[in-house]
This record gives sequence, C-alpha cells and structure tokens, in this order.
Amino acid sequence: MTSDASFYPLAARLQALPHVSVERKVPLSRLTRFAVGGPAEILAATRDPESFVRMRRLTDQSGMPWMVLGDGTNVIAADEGYRGVVLRYTGSRISLAGSTVTVEVGASLQSMVDFTIRRGLAGIHTMTGIPGGVGAAIYGNAGAYGNSISGCVEKVRCFDGAAIRDFDRAACHFAYRESVFKVRKEWTILSAELRFEPGNPVEMAQQAASIREIRDSKYPPSMRCAGSIFKNLLFAELPDAAAARVPASVVREGKVPSAWFLEQVGAKGMRVGGIQVAAYHANLIYNDGGGTARDLRAVAAELKRRVREEFEFELEEEVQYVGFG
Ligand SMILES: Cc1cc2nc3c(=O)[nH]c(=O)nc-3n(C[C@H](O)[C@H](O)[C@H](O)COP(=O)(O)OP(=O)(O)OC[C@H]3O[C@@H](n4cnc5c(N)ncnc54)[C@H](O)[C@@H]3O)c2cc1C
Repeated sequence: MTSDASFYPLAARLQALPHVSVERKVPLSRLTRFAVGGPAEILAATRDPESFVRMRRLTDQSGMPWMVLGDGTNVIAADEGYRGVVLRYTGSRISLAGSTVTVEVGASLQSMVDFTIRRGLAGIHTMTGIPGGVGAAIYGNAGAYGNSISGCVEKVRCFDGAAIRDFDRAACHFAYRESVFKVRKEWTILSAELRFEPGNPVEMAQQAASIREIRDSKYPPSMRCAGSIFKNLLFAELPDAAAARVPASVVREGKVPSAWFLEQVGAKGMRVGGIQVAAYHANLIYNDGGGTARDLRAVAAELKRRVREEFEFELEEEVQYVGFG
C-alpha cells in the first residue's frame, strides 16, 4: 500500500504550479453530497485549463492513482477514503455565439440551464434542478423530463493524458446515462459546445419553475443523497418474464423506473444504520447524518439481491463508487 509520505513530493510539485490550490487529507464526506467517506490524500484544483493539463501530467508521471471530481453529487466514497489524488477543474465561463454556447465544465449545470432560458435557447430547460457540474453531466449524459444533455452537445474538448482532443457528438457515444468518457476515465472533459433551438424564455422559465417545485419536494436541498442510486431499465432489454409483469402505465419513453422493481421487493423505508431508503421513493437512498459507505453498500447489495431473485436481472448503479478496492 502507498504510504502517506509517498504523496509529499507530488503534493509539493502540484503546489508549485500557477493557479493551483492543493490540500492534503481532505475528507470526501466534505466533498460529496452523500456526505460519507474518509480522506483523499491530495485534493488539487484549478480554474485554468493549462494548469489542469500540467496537474494531470505531473500526477500521471507520479504513478499515483487519481480521479476527477465535479461537485460530488453522484459519488459515494469509501469510509477508508481514497489513497490517491482528487483533481478538480473549476473553470466555469459560459459564452454565446449565435445559437452555440461554449461552456467550461466547472460551471454548474444549473447556471448553464439558467443562461439558456434567459436567452430563449431551448433544449435543457427541463434539466433545471439537477445538481452538479457540466463535466459530470456530459460524462453521465444527465437528463430529466425528456431531455438529456447529449441532445445539445456539438463538441466536447478533453485532455486524454497526452493531448487536448475535440470530439463531435457521435464520437462521444452517448446512450442512456452513458458516454465514452465513462469508459475512458483518463479522458478529462474541459469544455464543450452546445447548440440550441430557439424557444420562448417565458414559457421555458414557467416550465422550469414547476419542475423545480416537484424536484425540491422530492429531493429537499439539504438531503444527503446522490439522486437515484440505480439506473432505470430499458423495457426492450428486460428478461421476458420481468417485462410481462410491468404495467404499461409504468413505461415512459421506453424505460421502466428501477423504483418500480424496488417497490415490488419492499425497498421503501428500508434502513441499515444511518442509511435509509425514502418511504416515498424506492430508488432514493439517503444518509440521515450518521450513515456510512459500508451501510450504503449493504443496502444496495440487499436491494440488488432481492430484485435479482424476484425478476432475474441485475440492477446497475447510476452512482459512481470511489475508493472501494
Ligand atoms: C438530488 C439529486 C437529484 C439528481 N437528479 C438527477 C437527474 O434528474 N438526472 C440525472 O441525470 N442525474 C441526477 N442526479 C445525479 C447528478 O446530479 C448528476 O449525475 C450530475 O451530473 C453529477 O455532477 P457532479 O459534478 O456532482 O459529479 P460528481 O459526482 O463529482 O462526479 C460524477 C462522475 O463524473 C466524473 N466527472 C466529473 N467531472 C468530470 C470531468 N470534467 N471529466 C470527466 N469526468 C468527470 C467523476 O469522475 C465521477 O465519476 C441527481 C443527484 C442528486 C443529488
């Protein structure tokens, strides 16, 4: 196992870079909305793209494990922490030319949603209230109420470890909550260009406000959670026996909420330690304040077991785990 001391030289080199802030032993519980997780050895952040590339190069050369973190709203970190380097790119400029928005991916998704609504650009206004940054939204092809970010992406700029590269939409291999960046985790997204159709700002703002109201009642802003723990299911990919049991009214845009299956196996209200499945939503698991990552994993494993035994398929996590061996 890597010793604490072996991180000193890298921390010093990162610290010496311009526009870079470095902290040691930062609790991941502080960096993630689920609020569990032990320390990361190094947290290094910058809002300057060139400094980010230099940070990545130094980290790669050191041979230390590393990961990129956005706002930590879709990550569950191990109680033991992460014996590696957490890199953050916080550049957040958003600009408009014609109908194309260029965004640095440290911007919050909400700030981009608001930017587009104000300018009458339609396409992501229904994604209002999804927490987190634009980088992770592209990485996980975030979406809600019929729109996903992939619908507007024209170009994604990333650092692949050797060079800055531009990908067009096809090269991003977007699918439901998937992209090429989930497979090639060494490709860090830095900025993107998104193109929008014209829309009515007043109507979009009204629709966004009513979506926001629903979301805030389902996910109170202070709730320590990661949104949906499990991905929804594509109806066409379900085993025949499971598909036959799904009421037609539950299927939306070809998908079945994993919450429906979880409800059938009695997930609502389940609790292990300080980790609780919401009584009103079977795919919402939250930390009541005293929870641990171990408890969360126990709940997730038990729910997957029940669904596997009852419906003969495997639920897949939407959340990203960090630091679990
Ligand atoms: C209350 C709540 C509701 C939610 N509702 C929705 C919803 O309706 N729809 C939806 O799609 N999601 C939803 N989510 C999930 C979450 O908000 C999104 O996945 C969001 O995009 C995560 O952003 P983040 O910056 O917090 O990412 P993080 O949690 O920090 O990171 C998530 C993943 O993205 C990777 N990543 C981050 N930045 C980059 C980058 N620059 N380059 C490459 N990889 C990167 C990380 O390595 C990590 O694997 C919800 C979450 C919460 C807490």
